[in-house]
Amino acid sequence: DRLISPKTDSHEERADSAIRPKRLSDYIGQRQVRDQLDIFITAARQRGDALDHTLVFGPPGLGKTTLANIIATEMGSELTATSGPVLEKAGDLAALLTSLSEGDVLFIDEIHRMSANIEEILYPAMEDFQLDIMIGEGPAARSIKIDLPRFTLVGATTRAGLLTSPLRDRFGIVQRLEFYQIDELSQIVTRSARLLGLESEPEGALEIARRSRGTPRIANRLLRRVRDVAEVKGDGRLTAEIADIALNMLHVDRHGLDHMDRRLLLAMIDKFDGGPVGVESLAAAISEERDTIEDVLEPYLIQQGFMLRTARGRMVTRLAYTHFELPPPSRM
Ligand code: ADP
Repeated sequence: DRLISPKTDSHEERADSAIRPKRLSDYIGQRQVRDQLDIFITAARQRGDALDHTLVFGPPGLGKTTLANIIATEMGSELTATSGPVLEKAGDLAALLTSLSEGDVLFIDEIHRMSANIEEILYPAMEDFQLDIMIGEGPAARSIKIDLPRFTLVGATTRAGLLTSPLRDRFGIVQRLEFYQIDELSQIVTRSARLLGLESEPEGALEIARRSRGTPRIANRLLRRVRDVAEVKGDGRLTAEIADIALNMLHVDRHGLDHMDRRLLLAMIDKFDGGPVGVESLAAAISEERDTIEDVLEPYLIQQGFMLRTARGRMVTRLAYTHFELPPPSRM
């Protein structure tokens, strides 16, 4: 699997529980999001009210799930987590909603992948704290209304544009997570190393930070692999030299690009003359899902200036050519 994939699995999930920030004050970076949430949470608590429904969006691995957990902790309430694709039947959502207590947080990850019938149940639940469902079938069918406790829905999605507008409009708070700056990632690596009992030098943390695609999940994952190398090939400390050896061994280059990023950029250069090329053709050329390109690969490559998204399709930039030490075409 892809080492720098921002997606997680259950094994990593467990390994991560020790280093996942629990309070807003441990949440590094995302200054604006943190400052705003701090005010909204404090105000809601002072009023003794539930926090407004909150939508958090941004590429995978930037801290959406972490933020949902922090919101629940700071509000002094419980969190129930689910995800859009898991909610298949109306009853699934009804069961979750009726099990909540006053002020609880219901976290729905990948909320854009919820089916339309589930979404319709969510509207009155979000707006009026009412569950409005049909029970039975045919002539015996009837609709029942149940009052729900005032709860907070925290929805997470990779792109806000994927949500239907009636759903998006029902969130009082909308926060966008950005890729992290290198100094912020450096702080995250240093903090995680400390929690893992690993001695680290600032230059070592910095080397990992530089090569983490702006993503805390990747920084933590690279840290674990670098730790292995430090223990086997070094003196157990995270130094710049050990980080460099480990990351080169893992084929993560100086910009944090891995083989999938390189494949995408090189396909655009070799097969499409640098673009513009449609995302579907690109997906076919590298045998990847369109969603993987749009959610995982290109946001970082665009942010770093390796490629562009134009009305006519994706294009690589001059920077991509120089990164691969290739001569840019004369039109650039
Ligand atoms: P997402 O839900 O956006 O995919 P997560 O919330 O699961 O991302 O974050 C991935 C991991 O990165 C977390 O488990 C946590 O350890 C780390 N992380 C995320 N955001 C931060 C942050 N702001 N400060 C420190 N660590 C973070």
